[in-house]
Amino acid sequence: MVRINDNFTKLPASYLFTDIARKVEAFAASHPGERIIRMGIGDVTRPICRAAIDAMKKAVDDESHERTFHGYGPEQGYAFLREKIAEHDYRKRGIAISPDEIYVSDGAKSDTGNIGDILSPDCRVAVTDPVYPVYVDTNVMAGRAGKLKDGKWSEIIYLPCTADNDFIPALPSKRPDIIYLCYPNNPTGTTLTHSQLAEWVDYARKKGSLILFDSAYEAYITSPDVPRSIYEIPGAKEVAIEFRSFSKTAGFTGLRCGYTVIPSELKGVDKDGKEVPIGALWNRRQCTKFNGASYVTQRAAEAIYTDEGQQQVKETIDYYMTNARLLREGLASAGITTFGGVNAPYIWVKTPEGTTSWQFFDLLLQRCRVVGTPGVGFGPSGEGYFRLTAFGERDDTLEAVERLANLKI
Ligand code: PLP
Repeated sequence: MVRINDNFTKLPASYLFTDIARKVEAFAASHPGERIIRMGIGDVTRPICRAAIDAMKKAVDDESHERTFHGYGPEQGYAFLREKIAEHDYRKRGIAISPDEIYVSDGAKSDTGNIGDILSPDCRVAVTDPVYPVYVDTNVMAGRAGKLKDGKWSEIIYLPCTADNDFIPALPSKRPDIIYLCYPNNPTGTTLTHSQLAEWVDYARKKGSLILFDSAYEAYITSPDVPRSIYEIPGAKEVAIEFRSFSKTAGFTGLRCGYTVIPSELKGVDKDGKEVPIGALWNRRQCTKFNGASYVTQRAAEAIYTDEGQQQVKETIDYYMTNARLLREGLASAGITTFGGVNAPYIWVKTPEGTTSWQFFDLLLQRCRVVGTPGVGFGPSGEGYFRLTAFGERDDTLEAVERLANLKI
């Protein structure tokens, strides 16, 4: 029989969201007719905006005519979309990124998961803790993580982010080759200011580390001192790759589209110490293993950048951020401490003294019929915290707030 990649068998068999679903199903089965409000999985609930839907309908029509039909597209994405991204997401904000430094894809999960293909298996990885699990699990698959002990991988550097350090990760004492930063953060909903992010850029430049900057929630930023792109920090182009997604920006979680920016200045070294442009490697990887996001999808993404598209996307984001505010305020008036939810659609709840993440999960399910995500599922420093999402309908959010307010702890 064929030899498998043993790294896959190192991954724990159970998956956070499967465990949650199992518990909720069991509860629902034993409490028929009771309405459970789900604020666990970070998926959007509002439909894709009109401008994108209309653009897709037209694109579908294009595919039905010989003259406008599109077959395989460029692996890097169509120029019409890459130009819009470069103009709206970067040039207009004073950042010079050219369309050929942008690689359109089917989303940030794939790109953050696949990027390790072009980096040495010997690279030492650092992650903030708690963390979006994809960064860790894909490095386990690649053999960079070592052994799992007490919820931590032996070869991964964990950078705790808790209320004790205001969710600002300290610079590591041991040099990592690769540093994953996700801001606005999933799961904590917290952010870094310009000067805090600049410290990381500075560190990466001094130490020769690569920052993998996931800004999937950039569209939710409201505070002026929070950078929307790592390239707002001078010198970041030589040390950082940026990942973006239309999922949370424009409701594309089911449609699938995102992009990765690799500036031409960003270089790595081969085994002989020779400099190699990272973008060229990623381009090669994508051309070999990826055949581009669909034409119809890319036309939808392009439509987000029209005036009406921008307006419609903003309305949806405002809707979710009003939910976030209602949740924050409601929980505060119930005496529950929360973090995040100002520049991100996630509310990071401090569980009451002596209550673990999973105990709080059970408490909320049983007493309020509200489902969230136990913080410990995102990493050891998530213990004692709990994630609620602002994605959801207004009525559900209001009802959840009311139920939580009555939670006497
Ligand atoms: N990055 C972060 C931090 C996320 O939270 C998510 C989705 O929840 C993704 C990436 C995945 O984005 P996409 O839908 O573009 O794959």
